[in-house]
Amino acid sequence: MNAPRLLLSLDDALARLVAAAAGHAIDEVETVSTFDALGRVLAADVRSALDVPPADNTSMDGYAVRSADVAVAGAVLPVAQRIPAGHVGQPLQPGTAARIFTGGQVPAGADAVVMQEQCEALADAGGGMGAVRVNAVPVPGQWIRRRGEDVQHDSVVLPRGTRLTPQALGLAASVGAGTLAVLRRPRVALFSTGDELQMPGEVLRPGAIYNSNRFTLRALLQAGGCEVQDLGIVGDTLAATRAALREAAAHNDLIVTSGGVSVGEEDHLKPAAEAEGSMANWQIAIKPGKPLALGRIRREGGSAALLIGLPGNPVSSYVTYLLTVGTALRAMQGMPTALPAGLPLRADFDWPRPDRRREFLRVRLNDQGGLDLFANQSSGVLTSAVWADGLVDNPPGQAIARGDSVRFVPLAALVTR
Ligand code: AMP
Ligand code: MG
Repeated sequence: MNAPRLLLSLDDALARLVAAAAGHAIDEVETVSTFDALGRVLAADVRSALDVPPADNTSMDGYAVRSADVAVAGAVLPVAQRIPAGHVGQPLQPGTAARIFTGGQVPAGADAVVMQEQCEALADAGGGMGAVRVNAVPVPGQWIRRRGEDVQHDSVVLPRGTRLTPQALGLAASVGAGTLAVLRRPRVALFSTGDELQMPGEVLRPGAIYNSNRFTLRALLQAGGCEVQDLGIVGDTLAATRAALREAAAHNDLIVTSGGVSVGEEDHLKPAAEAEGSMANWQIAIKPGKPLALGRIRREGGSAALLIGLPGNPVSSYVTYLLTVGTALRAMQGMPTALPAGLPLRADFDWPRPDRRREFLRVRLNDQGGLDLFANQSSGVLTSAVWADGLVDNPPGQAIARGDSVRFVPLAALVTR
């Protein structure tokens, strides 16, 4: 029961985790419709076969002209053509204007667009397109979006390893990519240990609590693009824990558990993992967090699934997931693994009694551009994690006084990295 436990800095722990995860790299590639690729990780660069925009076009409704033809305000030009978006006009003859609409291709010879608010359409008795009085002197190039100003032909618009955001899907589509090569989703098994746990919807027995980690962790995995095998609640016995580990290892790359990683006699993860593979119990010098387990669970055929055992306290579980599981999943997918560096911001709070461990304080941006602290930083207070929009990454032993600059890491940057 008194197994020696390794005390590690977070950086050391992450370096070991990344090294272990690299042995579980996912390299199967799938081709998916760009429609269905949200959150997936690119397995190959997306390169553009064209310039975007493909041709000069107007960003205004108005008239395309040769600026030399409008040396003074009030010049009148016959309207020789009409160019709606999606249509290609004729070369613009000197001394004429083209009626043109946003997105319309600027005709050869025109070098400026005058917005319609600065023009007066003059009727044509003959039923033609009439003439236009241009009431402002155009600057060459105005209101023209240049060919290739967004994307140049043959450039890489999205490198492999990119997680596809909504805007990345739009960019891929803008260069004509109807399908994308992505990595297969990481397969992750999840279970919560604890005889005290019950599911929401049930009537609580005396001594019981509702299982919140199952929901938080499952949703984090889903938000991270994983396929989740949710094994539910596993009781605090060696046999149940071993059986759950075996089932979890069979078809998954990674097993994530919560609870049972201390070394109390009700903590069965370590003996179970040692029976089914191997496991090290770590103490990471962070708060919340601290206990973390890293192991490998054997499966038939001689390969193994990676095991990360998170602490049971809900905030610890959430924060350690973001720091460790998030990093391991990136390593498995060949993505950069550094934690988001965060940004310096002003603390609008005091933190006079820092811990000796590196702390991740739940804070919120205020309207003055500073940070407020959630009053109760206890690792069981999940309301703090919902109230917060970020964590202050505070060095070990560092007291904070109102007005100090601290390092702010947005939760959003951690959740979907
Ligand atoms: P453990 O790491 O198993 O000793 O659990 C530490 C604390 O977290 C205990 O108070 C547990 O009741 C609580 N806890 C463990 N698992 C969960 C869970 N899935 N949901 C909510 N609280 C939990
Ligand atoms: Mg427990």
